[in-house]
Amino acid sequence: MRHRNSGNRNATVEIVREHVGEEDGSRPGIDSESSRRKILQWLAMAGAGSFLPGGKLLARAAMPAAAPTGRIDVHTHTVPPFYTKVMEKEILATGHPLPSWSPAAAIEMMDKTGVATSMLSPMTRVVQDSFSDKTERARKLARQNNDYTQQLVRDYPGRFGHFAALPLPDTEGSLREIEYALDTLKADGIGLWTSYLDKWPGDPIFAPVYEELNRRKTIIFLHSAPPSCCRTLQPGVADSVVEYDFDIARAVVSYLKSDSFRRYSNIRFIFPHSGGTLPVLANRVSETLPEKRSEKDSAEILDELKQVYFDVAHAAYPAPLAAITKVIPISQLLFGSDYPIFPPPVTEGPLDHFGFSKSDLQAINRGNAERLFPRLKA
Ligand SMILES: [Zn+2]
Repeated sequence: MRHRNSGNRNATVEIVREHVGEEDGSRPGIDSESSRRKILQWLAMAGAGSFLPGGKLLARAAMPAAAPTGRIDVHTHTVPPFYTKVMEKEILATGHPLPSWSPAAAIEMMDKTGVATSMLSPMTRVVQDSFSDKTERARKLARQNNDYTQQLVRDYPGRFGHFAALPLPDTEGSLREIEYALDTLKADGIGLWTSYLDKWPGDPIFAPVYEELNRRKTIIFLHSAPPSCCRTLQPGVADSVVEYDFDIARAVVSYLKSDSFRRYSNIRFIFPHSGGTLPVLANRVSETLPEKRSEKDSAEILDELKQVYFDVAHAAYPAPLAAITKVIPISQLLFGSDYPIFPPPVTEGPLDHFGFSKSDLQAINRGNAERLFPRLKA
């Protein structure tokens, strides 16, 4: 198969050479101490927001604009002004200041790193924790978010897609927003969280929403979130250090336990971070979750997982990729970066050097996403 993305890939490799490290002659990726150091530098810059335009490092790595055959990044976020204003207190409470973000900065980063199209997801907690008294605010924030991202899709043709936010667990508001987002805004899918306070997605309270999403054959992007049980468990350790990735496994187990993957078989599910802790737990889950614990049940669970999609955002290192590729076929892997939380090279460098064949890499970078989003077919 011709590697349609080779031009952009080479451009990306150049950036990775410069920023992730190949100068010591060792295999790039995280095998060498120097590579690890470079990735940590990227992460530090991401934390400080210094990878944004005008940043010295990016200025050195000027690349031609991405061709329409470049990567499709299924995992990026916006940080709209209305969101930072309304959510100021909550954001401060998480101890994580949000990175600076603008559409122009996002496009510039995409051009420099060979990303043709980015799917925009709601920022974590944009409408989370919205039980009872916060329902109206959640409905308003979801609507504002969805109008905002759809405008970006219109303003930058071909460069953005979007997963619309819902004010879950507010069922009535969510059903209304599904109709608006999919019928009026023509969103590419819906962005949900792996949990809402102490409820995981297979919980019966979410069933009416899933039934509607199934009826509409929707693509769902599940973003990790810390459930209320497990926030600030250890002093000084942010939830994102481990809890986000544990919640991916909890959400998948919740779907399996409620038979949701089979019941809602029209929905295409995308999970982030190469599945977080799920791949290493997959056999344990398949052997111990079914009540009868038969070989047949176990095999069926593993088969169900093979239908699910996973992005590789910030989890393209040798260990997570080795694990996830033992659980699902290459056809289910998608490129994701988690920009602006992480700059794309944090994922691109290790992904490019994992050892995938050219055709597998092309499928992960673009081909698999084209199947999900036919409107992006080059
Ligand atoms: Zn993210």
